[in-house]
Amino acid sequence: NGGWCQCYSCFTGSICSEIIHDCVINFDHGDPKMFEKYWSLHQNTVSAVLRGNERMSYFSDKEAVCWFLEPSLAMEIKLMHKMIGNAVTEGHHIVVGTGSSQLISAALYALSSLAHHRPVDVVSASPFYSSYPPMTNFLESQLHHWAGDASSYKTSGQNAYIELVTSPGNPDGMIHSAVVDGTGPVIYDLAYYWPHYTPITEAADYDIMLFTVSKTTGHAGTRIGWALVRDIEVAKKMTKYIELSTIGVSKDSQFRTAQILKGIRISYSDKAENSREYDSNSQRRLFHFGYEQMDLRWRQLRHAIGNSQCFSVVDFPSGYCQFFEKNTRAHPAFAWLYCEMDEDCHAVFKANGILTRSGLHFGSSRKYIRISMLDHDNVFQLFIDRVHQMASSCHKK
Ligand code: PMP
Repeated sequence: NGGWCQCYSCFTGSICSEIIHDCVINFDHGDPKMFEKYWSLHQNTVSAVLRGNERMSYFSDKEAVCWFLEPSLAMEIKLMHKMIGNAVTEGHHIVVGTGSSQLISAALYALSSLAHHRPVDVVSASPFYSSYPPMTNFLESQLHHWAGDASSYKTSGQNAYIELVTSPGNPDGMIHSAVVDGTGPVIYDLAYYWPHYTPITEAADYDIMLFTVSKTTGHAGTRIGWALVRDIEVAKKMTKYIELSTIGVSKDSQFRTAQILKGIRISYSDKAENSREYDSNSQRRLFHFGYEQMDLRWRQLRHAIGNSQCFSVVDFPSGYCQFFEKNTRAHPAFAWLYCEMDEDCHAVFKANGILTRSGLHFGSSRKYIRISMLDHDNVFQLFIDRVHQMASSCHKK
């Protein structure tokens, strides 16, 4: 690796096999490191080389609504959604962002600047993605402000509102739809609507849908997300937001993302022939790899918890996944764990060397925590060992 070698956190030694026993496992963030194993096995299938004279301009396609969107990326996004069957791209404009994070802010700006009454209330059903409140309120804008849990939000003639829906949910992994009365616009954050996390039961066809390469392929550092937007005025406003904040989105990153999506697509080009050869191909194809990993990890977590009286995680319903052509069960990117006995679940895990995110950040109770399921294999195994110990000692209480 070019002489560069670094052990994953909690490991040391010449071959990184020694565990640092008192180390704290940080599962607070959702950094999708699990996918590095897949890309190490397939590192030569995707490369993105740009020569000094290439992709220099601010512009990509001056005539397009999103004038900084690389046409090759737009094409691969459409082909990827078609292959997976998770979203309808026809009748939608694509807006690219620096991660879907930038697109959340861009969509809030677009919708609230088009609203009749301002500031617009921004709501999301609890447990909601913990970044929504700070993202909404960050600039203390007069356009919009965070108004809390959508489940208890009452619309009135005076206030305009925007509802954010994350489906599958971060943190809870469940499929969600809008809960307010439907009179306001809804932003569907579909970051996890991919077959390694949940059965793809239908192609989503909402007015505003957000996706990110971070959770799709694991390339969080590439910082590319995209929005599928039905209304051209909303798409134009979102583009304006990105124009004013960053004058577009890195062409290098867009190019790399296009290459990554293309590499995955090509690996599936013989899908029809081999679609049922599920196990033998799992290492070769990203979504099969992701599915197997997540399935294994969730089985390990459930086994570690066992029938402990202290901790519980919900069972997810299964559904017919149109991409895998079989019934699959959801394996969310996060475990939303409930402490049955203790009031402060975060403190219990912290005392056992596991950093998680308290339910309080998601508009929920401190009896819940969110745990990332996407870390490297050996760090995840260490986590499983610790949970197993916690669960078994809990029986003895
Ligand atoms: N939406 C949800 C629900 C997320 O979990 C995340 C990442 N944690 C994002 C958006 C932002 O992703 P990114 O900016 O990396 O594209």
